[in-house]
Amino acid sequence: AIGWGLIGASTIAAEHMLGAIRAQAGHDVVAVMSSNARRGREYAEKNAIASACGSLDELLQNPAVQAVYISTTNELHKAQVLAAAAAGKHVLCEKPLALTLADAREMVAACAGAGVVMATNHHLRNAATHRKIRELVAQGAIGKPLFARVFHAVYLPEHLQGWRLDRPEAGGGVILDITVHDVDTLRFVLGAEPVDAVGLAQSASLARHGLEDGVMAVLRFDNGVLAQIHDAFTVKHAGTGIEIHGATGSIIGRNVMTQRPVGELVLRNADGETPLVVEHENLYVRGVAAFCAALRGQGQPAASGADGVRSLAAALAVLQSCKTGQRIAIAP
Ligand code: NDP
Repeated sequence: AIGWGLIGASTIAAEHMLGAIRAQAGHDVVAVMSSNARRGREYAEKNAIASACGSLDELLQNPAVQAVYISTTNELHKAQVLAAAAAGKHVLCEKPLALTLADAREMVAACAGAGVVMATNHHLRNAATHRKIRELVAQGAIGKPLFARVFHAVYLPEHLQGWRLDRPEAGGGVILDITVHDVDTLRFVLGAEPVDAVGLAQSASLARHGLEDGVMAVLRFDNGVLAQIHDAFTVKHAGTGIEIHGATGSIIGRNVMTQRPVGELVLRNADGETPLVVEHENLYVRGVAAFCAALRGQGQPAASGADGVRSLAAALAVLQSCKTGQRIAIAP
């Protein structure tokens, strides 16, 4: 049996990841670390976790813990990953991996050096819809891919209206929250790397202290594709989607930039519109399954640490472009 420790008594762990870990045969969550002892105990009790602790050292010294899931606020990920790697624990870390590229690279190097598996929790590449798009693009179903559009402007649920909106030092803002996911999804479906970014950000109603709650950006990929990205925390009725437009056809995905296993795809070309059938599957369960297989030496995690570095590099370039008004080259 493999025991997991949760680093961070977070919403995402309670809403999605506890269930995804417990869906794996032989895996369970045995400990949770919270910076607040009382909240940690309550969280453990509510979620049937055997022990709660108030320090990272205590969690990492627990011999029943072989893997950790890190879902604290973003400024804390780095030190926690480095400590987990040093303790020989496998690491599934939330996005964005860190607030700087140098930090994210250091985290990946530390895990590689310690010989532990590291993954980034980019859930969208586990969606049946995005996997289908990747497959069709690779098969040439739309000819040469030319453009992509990502619609990911949503309303941040009230129970999440905290640090994302008012704590720049914790890595708040919509770009580090949502744009990183878009970039990972585009890299996955296109099989290409982003090289340039331009963006304009908005601070319309929810975000404070210089943070942005909306952004429109354009990325250029190394296969020539231009990708348009629209992300927000402030929009209630836009709906989400992704479109990939190629020389001979377009793939249109609706309601696919989401945590839930839902959404529809159509292929539009000279033959008209063809609905694409996918078998929806829980995104987080699939992601954790790939991580657990990697622990057994079978295959790679769905999104590696290096994937997390790539998505962060592009998101930081978008942020920098928004701040400077310049086109920014994305660090390779
Ligand atoms: P939360 O705000 O729920 O949790 C983050 C931290 O805030 C926790 O570690 C906890 O600290 C503290 N906290 C949580 N609830 C309370 C509370 N009621 N009062 C005081 N402090 C509290 O964040 P999310 O779960 O939304 O996000 C956590 C991480 O996961 C981020 O890195 C985010 O980017 C990522 N994320 C990823 C998603 C994905 O699909 N891949 C989706 C959502 C988030 P402590 O542990 O010390 O108690």
